[in-house]
Amino acid sequence: MGKHAGCLAPDKARFMDFFPAGAALTKLATGFVWAEGPVWFSELNELRFSDIPNNRMMRWSPVAGLSTFRQPSQRTNGHTRDREGNMISCEHGGRCVSRTYMDGRYEVLATHWNGKRFNSPNDVVVKSDGTIWFTDPPYGIISDHEGIRAESEIGKNQVYRLDPATGEVSVVADDFDRPNGLAFSPDESELYVADSGYARGHGFGFEEGRPRHVRGFKVVDGKRLAQSRVIAVIEEKVPDGLRVDSEGLLWISAGDGVHCYTPQGERLGRILVPETVANLTFGGFGKSRMFICATSSVYAIETARTGAQWP
Ligand code: MG
Repeated sequence: MGKHAGCLAPDKARFMDFFPAGAALTKLATGFVWAEGPVWFSELNELRFSDIPNNRMMRWSPVAGLSTFRQPSQRTNGHTRDREGNMISCEHGGRCVSRTYMDGRYEVLATHWNGKRFNSPNDVVVKSDGTIWFTDPPYGIISDHEGIRAESEIGKNQVYRLDPATGEVSVVADDFDRPNGLAFSPDESELYVADSGYARGHGFGFEEGRPRHVRGFKVVDGKRLAQSRVIAVIEEKVPDGLRVDSEGLLWISAGDGVHCYTPQGERLGRILVPETVANLTFGGFGKSRMFICATSSVYAIETARTGAQWP
């Protein structure tokens, strides 16, 4: 084990082995209001992410640097990629889940459940069977900061499963306060979902007694959730986006950085980040570089882990 920069705060000694010698947090780009939704395109050597209040989607590459990918962006939030590599996006402005093909074509995949509009889809993952799982808290409709103010039609903040082959949208969890980031375990036997209910949204502050934790579920028959348990309580503000590495460790956005947990709920350590973290993803060569969206800036750190997300 070599020397590391001071951004690493281990709870267990082995946490330091998760990073190469000299690993340090680097600021890649800044000037955003609320950076979110990082997604990596290895074939393009490119990161894309949202700047929600500025209604734009950005891209960054180590070769070309920073540029605007799409503006207006319908205030996209979280992104992921489907099994064909296309970009799947949650949109606050469109209150929908959309797909952007690699050739630039764009389509809306889902806007409603049970005849009612979604609140403001927040974050999304795609299962290996092609189904799209996403969360729908109200952060994009409670003010005009991250979307367009509106009443909730559904009246609940649920987690959904969308089958893009049929268009069918079904509820997989209806007992969240404000479901947020989510990720499958590497074998997809479990789904992890953050509840950020403690954060009431821009301008509304925090409310004691509300959830600020990540829950784990068993995935039953590939389409239902069971056996809910709390894995991690985030004392520093709330959990937001999260990712899983190839050995099943959870990397969770938190107020003071990125927290690493085992699926059993043991915290192994933290990457400390100078701004509140909203989301992260693994990318770069070998999916071992962690990209972190933190308020006004995007940061990166080399790890000795490998992201589990497709592709
Ligand atoms: Mg989020």
